Amino acid sequence: MQKLETQNPKLVTLNTTRNLKLVNLHTHFPLTGQQIGLVNHNVLLPFQPQAEQFYSVGLHPWDLDQATDDKWLDTLESLLAHPQVLAVGECGIDRTLETPVEKQIHFFRRQLELAEKHARPLILHAVRSYSDLLQLKKQSASKLPWILHGYQANAETTKQLAQMGFYFSLGTALLNDRQKLNQSLAEIPPSQLFFETDESTENIESIYIFAAGQLKTTAEKLRYQVLENYQRIF
Ligand SMILES: [Zn+2]
Repeated sequence: MQKLETQNPKLVTLNTTRNLKLVNLHTHFPLTGQQIGLVNHNVLLPFQPQAEQFYSVGLHPWDLDQATDDKWLDTLESLLAHPQVLAVGECGIDRTLETPVEKQIHFFRRQLELAEKHARPLILHAVRSYSDLLQLKKQSASKLPWILHGYQANAETTKQLAQMGFYFSLGTALLNDRQKLNQSLAEIPPSQLFFETDESTENIESIYIFAAGQLKTTAEKLRYQVLENYQRIF
């Protein structure tokens, strides 16, 4: 068998791919099988890490009103020392909320400070706030990876964000044949690209297969590229 594998390059490639971890950057459910990525954890809830899972911990803009004092900041800081916590988030700005944007920026900056202090990448929730985040990244001169999860903006915005060094994580919205998002996908430098299932129970593999088709590459090559991105950052 060993001999056959070395003689047949196709077989070697297949075997390599099978052993390759499949990155699911952001999910709300524990990851199974070959998947690797970050399970989202709300800092206001008790942290009960499961074996072989990694997490991002943060305060979502939807939950700001529940943080009545600054205790969550101490909790977040102590959780950043946990070996299974690899990123801060999801955090960010959502302009469809009634919560004033100034308040959201304040909470975001507090989390950015801790991310900087502990050198942890950010998982960003952004709704109609890409220009706010662009501005915040410029102002902070942050060198951390800022990863826009559930990314959905147009190609023009994508170019600007990519130039500023943002990372992009695309989910099931891509599958809904949205012309706009597929044009954006083409503008993302491969080294700044991720995929995710977020709150969906969709199989992550179908997102890779679809994206590979759009990018005129193979799902295997895409898997390898995204795994390389993941290993570089985390
Ligand atoms: Zn999420």
